[in-house]
Amino acid sequence: MNVTVLSLGYLGTNCYLLGGTDGCLVIDPAGEPDRVLAALGDRKLVAILLTHGHFDHVGAVRDLVAETGCDVYIHPAELGLPSAITAGPLYHTHTYGEGDRLTLAGLSFTVLHTPGHTPGSVCLCFGDQMFCGDTLFAGSIGRTDLPGGDSKTMGQTLRRLAALEGDFRVWPGHGEPSTLIEEQRYNPYL
Ligand SMILES: [Zn+2]
Repeated sequence: MNVTVLSLGYLGTNCYLLGGTDGCLVIDPAGEPDRVLAALGDRKLVAILLTHGHFDHVGAVRDLVAETGCDVYIHPAELGLPSAITAGPLYHTHTYGEGDRLTLAGLSFTVLHTPGHTPGSVCLCFGDQMFCGDTLFAGSIGRTDLPGGDSKTMGQTLRRLAALEGDFRVWPGHGEPSTLIEEQRYNPYL
């Protein structure tokens, strides 16, 4: 799997383009659809995977769907978020949740439901590469004070991540990549 990182939109959200044997996946297309399309080139976009529904992670979804006809996956708990923080109704074609194991574009991944930042936040694990959205950052975590956020649930999610075994590469929704072992050792929130 090859990973391309695009920093998109005015909040500099990390959008990840994953190249598989059978096309590409895009995680959190935050905005600037033309840049995502340029990065895709002539490769087929199979699906958009959303870590959660905040406006700064979903801005290019509709344009990319209009251009490519790709599928869009989101956790169903995100669909109840107030539209002020999702920039309108969340477009999706499929939902996914805890323990789902999917193969798309020739890439297999597992879904971890990691609520706290939002009720339907997920981490997506492609082997030892974990895409965390705004659940976990290098040295920090996502805020829980927005509508749908919950610090108690976030605490349970963080305890789960703190106990997770394996040397995962961590790709967060904002900022630099890290590793799970590094975060387990040095992140004060874990
Ligand atoms: Zn967020």
